[in-house]
Amino acid sequence: MINAVRIHTYGGPEVLTYEQIEIGEPGPGQIRLRQKACGLNYIDCYQRSGSYALPSLPAVLGMEGAGEVAAVGAGVTEVAAGDRVAYAMSPGGYASERLIAADRVVKIPAGIADETAAAMMLQGMTVRYLLRETYPVTASTVMLFHAAAGGVGLIACQWARKIGATLIGTVSSDEKAALALAHGATHVINVKRENFVERVREITGGAGCDVAYDSVGKDTFPGSLDCLRPRGLWVSFGNASGKVPPIEIGMLSAKGSLYATRPTLATYIAKRADLTANAAELFHMVETGAVKIEINQRYALADAAQAHRDMEARKTTGSSVLVV
Ligand code: NDP
Repeated sequence: MINAVRIHTYGGPEVLTYEQIEIGEPGPGQIRLRQKACGLNYIDCYQRSGSYALPSLPAVLGMEGAGEVAAVGAGVTEVAAGDRVAYAMSPGGYASERLIAADRVVKIPAGIADETAAAMMLQGMTVRYLLRETYPVTASTVMLFHAAAGGVGLIACQWARKIGATLIGTVSSDEKAALALAHGATHVINVKRENFVERVREITGGAGCDVAYDSVGKDTFPGSLDCLRPRGLWVSFGNASGKVPPIEIGMLSAKGSLYATRPTLATYIAKRADLTANAAELFHMVETGAVKIEINQRYALADAAQAHRDMEARKTTGSSVLVV
């Protein structure tokens, strides 16, 4: 029997139940992974609430983790028993052990701790694809980045600093503002006190940003589009405040021939070669110290509900993990 946090029905944090379940032995192409830590991500809240439906219930929640390969199934070539590995975007993460396809995990470099790997794969690979692929950020890029003191946000601040780009971050408190600035944000806007559209216009001298990375959704729509320069790119990649309403496409022309995209990490790491390349670049950023993974919250696996309450109450900063 292994320990897991499952949901049997969609709902609030109270639907998370700590249980003992059987997982069996790995099938062909699978491994059995003994996890040391599980990553916590805002997507877990969408899946728990049913905003993003899961394939079936009951289901073990969670999309990320790291640990040691306990056993391998037939035909597995990528890893061997005893290897330290990590993954992201594979449902079934909140567990002491799990089965997972071997081609979805990557080996963790010696210089990176299991807990750090568990905290960084999903948020870190997200920042990597957003800044390197969705929009090719360079030293001359001016970007808006909402929730700059969150898990994705603090990594984005550091990655942008490394590139030399200008990052205008939004946050909801002065403490979070200080944190984002300390991690490399060039400017920070406290949305509780300031109108972010007006402030972005001021900061950019009326020019607007090249790209707006928006994971807040409902509350920052359509403001984020008004922060863009003509032909700028709106990247809607999350909905922490609720879903963006349906869009009249003419809005993009009216606001300056804008581009819009709604990406997900799943697409950007769907091929194994993309997964390994993305992870390798992230590992390099962490191993060289350009990006430090800030684990500011740790919870026991049995306390997943409290972790969800804290995330949804905007109490967390940086990354969070469930310790197994
Ligand atoms: P965060 O640690 O950033 O937590 C979410 C943050 O959103 C909060 O801390 C809060 O920051 C901000 N926020 C704004 N409005 C609200 C609201 N009404 N309720 C709750 N939070 C709000 O989470 P993650 O780093 O895990 O993820 C960040 C975002 O990126 C999420 O929306 C997530 O879904 C998305 N994401 C998308 C991916 C993709 O590929 N599409 C992959 C990974 C993440 P503040 O208080 O400062 O405003």
